Amino acid sequence: MTCDPEETMTILDDLAAGLPSDAVLTDPASTDAYRFDEASFCDAGSPLAVVRPTETEQVQHVLRVASAHRVPVVPQGARSGLSGAANAVDGGIVLSLTRMDRILEIDPVDQVAVVEPGVLNAVLSRAVLEQGLYYPPDPSSWELSTIGGNLATNAGGLCCVKYGVTADFVRGVEVVTASGELLRTGRRTAKGVAGYDLTKLIVGSEGTLGVITKATLGLKPAPEAALTMAAAFGSAADALSAVTRIMAAGLQPSLCEFLDGVTVRAIQDYRDMGLPTGVGALLLTQSDRGPRAAADARRWARSAPSWAPWTSPSPPTPPSPRCSCRPAGSSTSRWRSSAPPSSTTSPCPAPGSWTSSTASPRSPRSTTSSCPAPATSATATCTPP
Ligand SMILES: Cc1cc2nc3c(=O)[nH]c(=O)nc-3n(C[C@H](O)[C@H](O)[C@H](O)COP(=O)(O)OP(=O)(O)OC[C@H]3O[C@@H](n4cnc5c(N)ncnc54)[C@H](O)[C@@H]3O)c2cc1C
Repeated sequence: MTCDPEETMTILDDLAAGLPSDAVLTDPASTDAYRFDEASFCDAGSPLAVVRPTETEQVQHVLRVASAHRVPVVPQGARSGLSGAANAVDGGIVLSLTRMDRILEIDPVDQVAVVEPGVLNAVLSRAVLEQGLYYPPDPSSWELSTIGGNLATNAGGLCCVKYGVTADFVRGVEVVTASGELLRTGRRTAKGVAGYDLTKLIVGSEGTLGVITKATLGLKPAPEAALTMAAAFGSAADALSAVTRIMAAGLQPSLCEFLDGVTVRAIQDYRDMGLPTGVGALLLTQSDRGPRAAADARRWARSAPSWAPWTSPSPPTPPSPRCSCRPAGSSTSRWRSSAPPSSTTSPCPAPGSWTSSTASPRSPRSTTSSCPAPATSATATCTPP
């Protein structure tokens, strides 16, 4: 880090020497946009430059120059992080990976995808789904966060209860170290147990060990259509006891989200999502086992005596554009309660009245957030006799 204008010019000249002219931003009007991630509690510095590489060799060049001049580098994905880890530091270089956004390969035989770090999770998820495959890691920011950022933070989402987090799907990475060297870790095959597991070391290291420039990701066959349901409870203890019963009985949901009463009220105060504010807790569960999902729901309800199925009285107001997680082509709200069953219907899972939906790939995470499921998008409302 330097305050010497001459040294600054030398660094910028050295950077420019190995990069296309449009890869380096120095004008504060442009670099300001790269100072912050989504953390609202911490400050950010003013970078010397923002570099937007399109090739791994350019990343290597940036890190060599930065090392030579002892300038700090902050790798950045989509800046959706909530901890300030992607914030710029004074006099440093912001390395934005968003232009390295190619899906290099989707292999249905080995069930892997090879991608650059700037690919959005949503873009990858949809691309593999078109081939009948599924990339399970599902941070709620999946529509806007990058695979590089997901790997660097070991992101996980609502579906990790069944499928695990990002690290469980990373088979190998290509990383540029601080000195500009290229390191390849891991494997492509499902099994690969020899040697130190450097991949696991890199995943979750928040850019402190190097810059991820490529990743080989494991995929799964696409799950069947999903059914999501909500149940209200008188107390948090009742809801959590229902969760332990469900899990202990081996009734594995593909999503299980607990909201205590305070959280439900806070969400409802923030935006009308149609949530029931008088409850002690709300539990969202999902089965992605297609025709067997309704039976799963019935078993969950039976396993928890205090289970009170809940139906939303009204759809929520739409989320903000930045956080919109509505799938392309869908205009339905996941909370709607009165739409007639369309292409997929299910028998009622439990006494009472409840609402469930099949999910199109990664349906609105800002509301019930379901796992990806192929094919249909439908809402089913069950009213018992
Ligand atoms: C609405 C919302 C919902 C969210 N939900 C979740 C959630 O459910 N689960 C969850 O885990 N997180 C969640 N997050 C946090 C955030 O989205 C994740 O941490 C995400 O993985 C960050 O990805 P990004 O591309 O935005 O990375 P950034 O925010 O740009 O960077 C995050 C970190 O990764 C490093 N980094 C980025 N790219 C690279 C790279 N190529 N090589 C090395 N280091 C790199 C950065 O230096 C920084 O330390 C949410 C955020 C928002 C705004």
